[in-house]
Amino acid sequence: MTDNPLLTPDLVVFARWVVPVVPTQTVLENYALFVTDGRITHLLPANDAKTMLSEAALAGATQLNNHALLPGLVNAHGHAAMTLLRGVGDDMPLQAWLEERIWPLEGELADASFVNAGVRLAAAEMILSGTTCFADNYFFPEETAKVTLETKLRVQLACPVLDFPTRWASHADEYINKTTALHDQYRQDDRVHVAFGPHSPYSVSDAPLRKIATLAAELDLPVHMHVHETQTEVDDAEVKDGVRPLARLHALGLLTPRLFCTHMTALTQEEIELVASSGSHIAHCPESNLKLASGFCEVQKLARHGINVALGTDGCASNNDLDMFSEMRTAAQLGKAVAQDATAVPANAALAMATINGAKAMGLDADIGSLEVGKFADLCAVDLGSINSIPLYDVISQLVYSTQASQVSHVWSGGEALLCDRKLQTIDEQQLKRTTQEWQKRVKHVAEKA
Ligand SMILES: [Zn+2]
Repeated sequence: MTDNPLLTPDLVVFARWVVPVVPTQTVLENYALFVTDGRITHLLPANDAKTMLSEAALAGATQLNNHALLPGLVNAHGHAAMTLLRGVGDDMPLQAWLEERIWPLEGELADASFVNAGVRLAAAEMILSGTTCFADNYFFPEETAKVTLETKLRVQLACPVLDFPTRWASHADEYINKTTALHDQYRQDDRVHVAFGPHSPYSVSDAPLRKIATLAAELDLPVHMHVHETQTEVDDAEVKDGVRPLARLHALGLLTPRLFCTHMTALTQEEIELVASSGSHIAHCPESNLKLASGFCEVQKLARHGINVALGTDGCASNNDLDMFSEMRTAAQLGKAVAQDATAVPANAALAMATINGAKAMGLDADIGSLEVGKFADLCAVDLGSINSIPLYDVISQLVYSTQASQVSHVWSGGEALLCDRKLQTIDEQQLKRTTQEWQKRVKHVAEKA
């Protein structure tokens, strides 16, 4: 008989394996996790858990007898609304793809209703593949925030800033003002985190970048930006500005631990050392880089310099999916090929890139990115009983090298169920398919006119 009263947490999950990510390379067998008020309160051996729970809590517990429970995946870079443009312009070079295909379509279509529908489609795909938090850089971020709250995901809204007008704003100051207004609106929110999202060094001039550097420091907000995506971008900037983009950002005061650079395929040794000493983070998007032939991010070299490298899918128009399991596998394989070293980017490093590293880069690692007591219960369960997962010698290897997204069985965010036995809990799948069909017709119509 124990003196302690029996517990009735809001959620109890028993899992065959728990992969907490922190500490690294850890697999806990036959463990349980308790959640109350959205946060993890206990992570302990299943046998100990059973002695602490009330009869009702035990009866209501989720039993995952053949599954690995891991942190919800963190997609560190993307443009969720572009999911509506999946497959509309493939096998084109980056500049032609942008100028002849994507920008004309966006100019005609990318309004608030496009963003609402595209983000909802992205949310469904992300939940079905185990992602619970995503960084997003797109117009009408207020719509992205709304859909994120409705579907109970978590987002870093990297609100766009550009020199030129779009349907969302007409000049750089208006983009910046809309960003700070959104930050005011959501500053107390656990699910919506606002950041500055200046598109790239070549599309934002010095004055707005200087203003962003000042405001980001004052408000302690991240700055999320495409930087050194291709060698051509760097070469063009050297001709136009007389200086490489990273050096220009440094001179403008942007290279700080708040800066989150996406791509970074063309870096010199000095630039790697500069990024390392500044504490800035990198979002690596291997499948998008491969598809657009953008170049290669030297992940192993960056990691050896102590740079935090996170993982993202980029938008669906250049990937063409939001599957972080395949992205982990590609990151591990490409990292080895680029380093010409089969020990580069091992499975546990790829898993960290897809979880805790993304959380760190967004400044959210106190709350998400690993399964630790006190953090939000953002969880993803993977059924490892399928044919492609047996025999099973190493759970982390299996998760990175042979798991398919369709093996994700359950997802929770802040302890709330988003996916149960592959069924979406916060999105009406039939309605979503109908809405997407309607958008497909509209996009096709505009694409054929172009
Ligand atoms: Zn991007």
